[in-house]
Amino acid sequence: MTEAVARAIRTGEHLAVQAGTGTGKSLAYLVPALRHAVTEDATVVVSTATIALQRQLVDRDLPRLAKALAPLLGREPRFAILKGRRNYLCLHRLHTGAPEEPEEAGLFDPFAVSAIGRQVKRLHEWSSDTETGDRDELVPGVGEHAWRQVSVSAKECLGVSRCPVGTDCFAERARAEAGKADVVVTNHALLAIDALQGYSVLPEHDVVIVDEAHDLVDRVTSVATAELTANAVAAAARRCGRLVSEDIADRLAEAGDGLALTLAELSPGRLDDLPTPLAGAVAVVRDAAHACVTALGPERKEDVEGSTARKLALALLEEVHDTAVRLLAAFEPAESERHDVVWISGGVTQDQVRPAALRVAPLSVGGLLRERLFGPRSVVLTSATLTLGGTFDTLARQWGLPPSPAPRRRAEGAATEKEPPADDTGSPELDGPKWTSLDVGSPFDHPRSGILYVARHLPPPGRDGLPPQYLDELAGLVEAAGGRALGLFSSMRAARQATEALRERLPNTILCQGDDSTSLLVKQFAEDEATCLFGTLSLWQGVDVPGPSLQLVVMDRIPFPRPDDPLASARQRAVAARGGNGFLTVAATHAALLLAQGAGRLLRSMNDRGVVAILDPRLATARYGGFLRASLPPFWTTHDPEVVRAALRRINT
Ligand code: SF4
Repeated sequence: MTEAVARAIRTGEHLAVQAGTGTGKSLAYLVPALRHAVTEDATVVVSTATIALQRQLVDRDLPRLAKALAPLLGREPRFAILKGRRNYLCLHRLHTGAPEEPEEAGLFDPFAVSAIGRQVKRLHEWSSDTETGDRDELVPGVGEHAWRQVSVSAKECLGVSRCPVGTDCFAERARAEAGKADVVVTNHALLAIDALQGYSVLPEHDVVIVDEAHDLVDRVTSVATAELTANAVAAAARRCGRLVSEDIADRLAEAGDGLALTLAELSPGRLDDLPTPLAGAVAVVRDAAHACVTALGPERKEDVEGSTARKLALALLEEVHDTAVRLLAAFEPAESERHDVVWISGGVTQDQVRPAALRVAPLSVGGLLRERLFGPRSVVLTSATLTLGGTFDTLARQWGLPPSPAPRRRAEGAATEKEPPADDTGSPELDGPKWTSLDVGSPFDHPRSGILYVARHLPPPGRDGLPPQYLDELAGLVEAAGGRALGLFSSMRAARQATEALRERLPNTILCQGDDSTSLLVKQFAEDEATCLFGTLSLWQGVDVPGPSLQLVVMDRIPFPRPDDPLASARQRAVAARGGNGFLTVAATHAALLLAQGAGRLLRSMNDRGVVAILDPRLATARYGGFLRASLPPFWTTHDPEVVRAALRRINT
């Protein structure tokens, strides 16, 4: 992997590397990256999806490597971590701060308001202790509303030259450190902003290493997604209330009320056409926001206080205005030519009532990535899961890269040969960026260390919670394993149902996501072997538990996107409209990635043993089952419940 990364940096060709857990992949890319940066006096950006990996790189791998490589490189390499401005405490806002007005109806609840007040007080205390002002270093953390009162977005910042506390600013200090560093560690969101939004937030760089690259498309899509809510319009109106004449601000507030009333009449879901009343309400918001921006007038440089209020108002107004413009423009082209998907989210869900929002997201980000990320620099993408159905092409297509040009080297233990579901169309042009791939395999002996159990005898999963047979099966497996189980469910409702059922039947402690912070639950799970931890598939990201506390990973069903998921359903339809198989291309790929990531929780160290149990029989019986199984590690496979329960009992004897 080190040689391949060094070659990619030298030749400028992009590289996708799959490297299983325990390979030491961060060292494999950091060594050539540091050498390149120091010898060429260049900057390399390393991007991660999770805070855990950022911490590992900055606290462990980079300090050790910098020391070890110093004699060879002639000096000690420098590294820094850089995040978006919103991640740092803003001293100006903290001390002069216009308090954020309660934005959501829930916050008129006096208990919620006083809880936020306590958190803001804690933030004030923390501000004199922290050296970095980095939100991720505050443990325990604070909620989003409290944090927003002490931070600013890039658009809201006064700018270092005008800010009275600019010389002490945490975000500016982090930027300055990054400017001097050889390697800058960041997150996918900031990488996406830097690449897509046309203004540099990262130092100039010629190499990007994207770790946890399986998450890149989702993170980039989030950055490129915008939202319009009545609350955001109301907040913008309040913020410019004292800065423009009353009737202009009132017009915006009324436009927000109009939007709320119109959205209340409509059901959540994807919009293929913009209903006339909604189009009207959005256009009124757009025009009212524009009138406020015009009324704010140009900035008066000498007046810092006025300038702060103006910046805060302008940031919200522009967001509201630009989103309204984008929403209306999304429907202009013919349906098959559209690039943006629009939907109404929120309303009453199983768990809560959320204010309705109008959201707009790109159908695909491949073209953007191809042009803005891959265009100007060499990119190395790596993760434990980059081959789906045995090939890199599935994810490469989503990144905007052409089909794999070079014969893939397949290390022993890699996923088996299997073609991906067909997507004949929508492929990037064949003369797209040049790239190669490498599967360095895994240090684990999957067939000897793990069993894949597919409960073929169970009925297909139902719509209304877990069928009784699933609960019996789950209880049997957990009992045989003596606890030690991580349950990854397709919904919180299923996770809670399983938790309640097993708490009644078994003596083991069953922890459920949401009972406490995920990190505390994972800690408790890791410390007590007989304990189980149940949650949704999103839980896997926080779970790295080597040893005997985790010997059984159970997934209740194949994690296809919900049929009413607006973005996935629009993507499926777009593939189908061009003659491809939308379900397989979009839904099966999504499911394959999550299944592989979930199964990847089982073996975390060389002595680990255990079972991945999938209760959904379709993995064994459906046509797409082969593609999904080929995306999982090559465990020994069985459909026999007796065999798997006996194996689970044996592991610990
Ligand atoms: S420069 Fe910007 S982020 Fe920094 S303290 Fe001033 S306003 Fe806040």
